[in-house]
Amino acid sequence: LQDVLIRAVELTSPRLDEKNMEFKVDIARDVTVMGDANRLIQIFTNLITNSITYSPEDKTITLRIKQNEDYGIVEVEDQGMGIEKNEIARIFERFYRVDKARSRNSGGTGLGLAIVKHLVEAHHGKIQVDSEVGKGTCMKVMIPLKKK
Ligand code: ATP
Ligand code: MG
Repeated sequence: LQDVLIRAVELTSPRLDEKNMEFKVDIARDVTVMGDANRLIQIFTNLITNSITYSPEDKTITLRIKQNEDYGIVEVEDQGMGIEKNEIARIFERFYRVDKARSRNSGGTGLGLAIVKHLVEAHHGKIQVDSEVGKGTCMKVMIPLKKK
């Protein structure tokens, strides 16, 4: 997962710089998962792009690699606007955008997370959202480990 995250960081850093934001990375531990590198890169590029889009300037995005018995885990955590509890279930629907996102006219289509969910499920993985309005959001992606 290290290579994948490094690539996702490279692809998103121009937008990060524009907003004077920074990455904090805790990816020293590497884990090998079962998956297609390009699709995994697409998952994390999407999540990081959301964290940039839905955060104010000067904030930090933290990336972590973890693992448990069955999964390699990546957390993408931001200090952005957060998502209301009652919206969390809907953000993975196609074309769904929280009102604030629509009204700020950030130009998205609402497909990003639907694609992420599809790609995670194609890998037999899981995605969890932990978010608090006004504080930030943590997206946790779990992809099955490659067995030795
Ligand atoms: P795009 O298709 O360009 O990705 P989008 O970003 O609006 O458009 P999604 O990525 O599917 O669409 O996200 C759906 C909605 O979930 C967003 O419009 C936004 O309201 C909310 N959202 C997603 N990620 C975050 C986040 N990190 N912080 C706050 N809100 C978020
Ligand atoms: Mg998006």
